[in-house]
Amino acid sequence: METGIPDIYAAGDLIQHNSIFYGIWPAAEKQGEVAGINMAGGNSEYHGTIISNTLKVAGIDICAAGDIDAEAQKDSILFKDAEIIYTKKWCFSMTP
Ligand SMILES: Cc1cc2nc3c(=O)[nH]c(=O)nc-3n(C[C@H](O)[C@H](O)[C@H](O)COP(=O)(O)OP(=O)(O)OC[C@H]3O[C@@H](n4cnc5c(N)ncnc54)[C@H](O)[C@@H]3O)c2cc1C
Repeated sequence: METGIPDIYAAGDLIQHNSIFYGIWPAAEKQGEVAGINMAGGNSEYHGTIISNTLKVAGIDICAAGDIDAEAQKDSILFKDAEIIYTKKWCFSMTP
């Protein structure tokens, strides 16, 4: 979590890590932990956070985790269950 300026560390909503801006609490918490350990002379690494969110829209509970491929750049398979209203989307890239 050391920035491009030696001995200056950053974590949380004000940073990007590997070009990812997380904007969620679990990422900020882990980044802060790693930054704190290293600021104290330790040797900890941050390897990213699995993005997940839950919210309620128009009375419907929505949960998403992982790479949701919001730009629809990847191939995907959709599983839908109309009774319990759930959609499972598997995203994968055909290119190695
Ligand atoms: C409405 C809302 C709902 C959210 N819901 C969720 C959720 O359900 N799940 C989830 O995972 N994440 C949620 N988030 C995101 C989550 O709150 C943030 O990712 C997390 O709080 C980031 O932590 P942080 O320490 O980087 O920043 P912050 O929590 O914003 O902490 C920054 C602190 O720095 C202080 N500060 C700012 N400027 C200065 C200064 N000049 N001097 C001293 N102190 C300063 C601020 O007062 C603040 O206390 C939500 C965010 C918002 C706004």
